[in-house]
Amino acid sequence: MAELLDFPVRTPPAPGEVVPIAPGVLWLRMRLPFALDHINLWLLDDGPSWTIVDCGFAQPETCAAWEQIFAEPLGGRPVGRIIVTHYHPDHIGLAGWLAERWEAPLLITEKEWLHARMMTGEGAADYARAAASFARRAGLAPEDCDLFARRHSGYRRGVPSVPPAYTRLSDGMAVEIGGREWRVIVGEGHAPELACLYCAETGVLIAGDQILPKISPNISVPPHEPAGDPLSRYLRSLDKLRGALPPETLVLPSHNLPFYGVHRRIDGLAAHHRERCAEVVAACARPHCAAELLPIMFRRQLDRHQTAFALGEALAHLHYLAGQGELTRAAGADGVDRFLRNAA
Ligand SMILES: [Zn+2]
Repeated sequence: MAELLDFPVRTPPAPGEVVPIAPGVLWLRMRLPFALDHINLWLLDDGPSWTIVDCGFAQPETCAAWEQIFAEPLGGRPVGRIIVTHYHPDHIGLAGWLAERWEAPLLITEKEWLHARMMTGEGAADYARAAASFARRAGLAPEDCDLFARRHSGYRRGVPSVPPAYTRLSDGMAVEIGGREWRVIVGEGHAPELACLYCAETGVLIAGDQILPKISPNISVPPHEPAGDPLSRYLRSLDKLRGALPPETLVLPSHNLPFYGVHRRIDGLAAHHRERCAEVVAACARPHCAAELLPIMFRRQLDRHQTAFALGEALAHLHYLAGQGELTRAAGADGVDRFLRNAA
């Protein structure tokens, strides 16, 4: 994935600071307690107030960084609205805290709000059980299934609360922010109904995790939808975004740096998945379960936490290829699903 992208600003803001990145848009960055150690958030000038786009993972240092921003760069103007692109903890984490602190409404798509409420509601033990059996079916070793289940039931750590009411964003709708029109473009595959925001007037796309430079967004079959095919939805969304966005769009992604070159990046991401698919099909000349594909697809040694991510990715490619008629799935006597290439 070496397509040439142009990064107009190469120094990201330090936590607690902001950098103007586009007309009416401030860029800020918060730390994350993962290997991917940061998230980009955006503040949109909304006249008498500010609209926040994405909130950061709930941890004391992120609240402190927000307080620092409220004290200075916002120039005494309040936060009037909170937009969340999708339900992952680094994006929606502090939405409850911010909504209470500012008495501000949460704008989010219906599926993302429902997922966040579901993941923070009762039933964590239930979810862990479903995740463990999901991992067993994918062929993970028994001791790794427990870790997989724990990892997938830890959502609440980064999301202590989700506002109990929301204002719905939906595909194609226009949101007026500071006198400019931002259009919602829903992307699927990384999350169920991720809201990208596009301002045609300034040529800016707030992309969430739908399109990222440098890393490929995680496209995983989730334990709560074990037969899902998120990769076909993701590839469809890439086509849709390519058609909707002019090539000179400035992309504001949630991780790494803002960039130009959206068509090249979309083509690179699609090519990356095609290459992975070709590797999977070749390997499945003999039956393979998802766990057995990890060393083939990822090539580097994965630790047990990375394995939890990678397993869902492997399944996403397997389910996509099964849906395309390239592979057939068969449940073995051991309860593990294996996939075999169909005769041409
Ligand atoms: Zn995400």
